[in-house]
Amino acid sequence: MKKQNVYAAIIGGGAGGMMCAIRAAERHPKEKIVILEKADRVGKKLLVTGNGRCNLSHVGADARSYHGEGSAELINILFKKYNTNAVLRYFHTLGLLTHTDHEGRVYPLSNQSSSVLDVLRKRLAELSVVEYCGAEIQSIQKTAQGYEIVAADRRIFAKKAVIAVGGKNDYVGRESGSRELMRALGVGTTKVSPSLSPVRVKNDLLKSLKGIRAQAEVSLIEHRQVVKSERGEVQFAENALSGICVFNLSREANKGGCEISLNLLPDMDHDQLYKEITERTERDLTAPASDIFIGMFHKNLGLAVLKASGVRPSAFCKDISEKELKSICRHIKDWRFSCEENRDFKKAQVTAGGVTLNEIDPCSFMCKRHKELYIIGEALDIDGDCGGYNLQFAFASGMCAGDSL
Ligand SMILES: Cc1cc2nc3c(=O)[nH]c(=O)nc-3n(C[C@H](O)[C@H](O)[C@H](O)COP(=O)(O)OP(=O)(O)OC[C@H]3O[C@@H](n4cnc5c(N)ncnc54)[C@H](O)[C@@H]3O)c2cc1C
Repeated sequence: MKKQNVYAAIIGGGAGGMMCAIRAAERHPKEKIVILEKADRVGKKLLVTGNGRCNLSHVGADARSYHGEGSAELINILFKKYNTNAVLRYFHTLGLLTHTDHEGRVYPLSNQSSSVLDVLRKRLAELSVVEYCGAEIQSIQKTAQGYEIVAADRRIFAKKAVIAVGGKNDYVGRESGSRELMRALGVGTTKVSPSLSPVRVKNDLLKSLKGIRAQAEVSLIEHRQVVKSERGEVQFAENALSGICVFNLSREANKGGCEISLNLLPDMDHDQLYKEITERTERDLTAPASDIFIGMFHKNLGLAVLKASGVRPSAFCKDISEKELKSICRHIKDWRFSCEENRDFKKAQVTAGGVTLNEIDPCSFMCKRHKELYIIGEALDIDGDCGGYNLQFAFASGMCAGDSL
């Protein structure tokens, strides 16, 4: 087994780990800094982010977009120095130009996630940070001088160590062993669950809607109360609802036992809708009920709404009762889907839960119970909404820890 003494070992070569290594190497140009990455390359996940475009930050990122016990306090402290502007300014110095879309999401100007990875890797090389790939951590132990880390065929003695191993799942479906590492170190963790994922729902009509997209307002209903609403494009899958607006409800919805309500015409109030639907049924009394939705919804969506409302699509418009009309309107404005528990991390963009935030000093990301051990990024019990918030946090926490090493 190869033995090596280093100044700092960064465990995990993802967004946070690479950024942390760069900042630490800039601060300590003469020291040896290594990244230990279990995959065959660093930054692999970055390439698939934002559908290959890498939504690396959000101009409106603040504590309201993050979740996890104590996340607001931590984000408020972190973003005093390492907010979106600071992260983007720093990326600019690395050569990355960005653009912001109308919703505040920031992408590389090239629209290629590889541009983000390229500038990070270029800087790592300039600073002679060593990347050990295929180096999955087997153990980490505290020593008198720092930490002894065993990864593949290496035994590394590091004065400082950073855990940047991301969430439970590495997106290719393998479970990261990071939680066992934390447990071995006696660091407190919370239960993890998938977030920013499709939401599994039970509804026989979904089969006919597979692949259809519709603009809607989606609301999460718990104990008969709306707890969160989002607007955007809903995508129907065989057993699930998907789309960014649904992703943003998935943190809670994946626990199951709640409902998602779809409002397919959020800009029309009940009275307007009732008038509109009544007029449509009166236009041609002998037309089938399915004609009501011509020019309004995707054909299959209209049929599903009718079925959910208890109206036969072949029924004549003239035969639709007052009660059925009201039911149609109710389903357009408040179509309910029961959420099932979802523990599948494979389709989740982030992990909710992780190392409890009270283990961490928010000014440096050093672990309170282990001097010179830092924990950053998604490994922590903090997860953001969809829109660049998670990478913003990974980069910002990486910068903060790197500057503190
Ligand atoms: C498909 C997809 C799209 C996404 N799109 C966006 C987006 O557009 N915008 C956004 O803000 N967020 C997005 N995210 C979320 C974002 O990618 C993560 O929140 C972010 O990468 C977390 O950074 P991190 O450095 O903490 O962890 P990661 O980037 O996950 O990096 C962790 C690294 O540690 C390595 N590792 C794990 N365990 C070990 C071990 N035991 N030993 C050694 N190495 C280990 C992993 O291989 C990995 O390279 C997306 C996620 C996915 C899956």
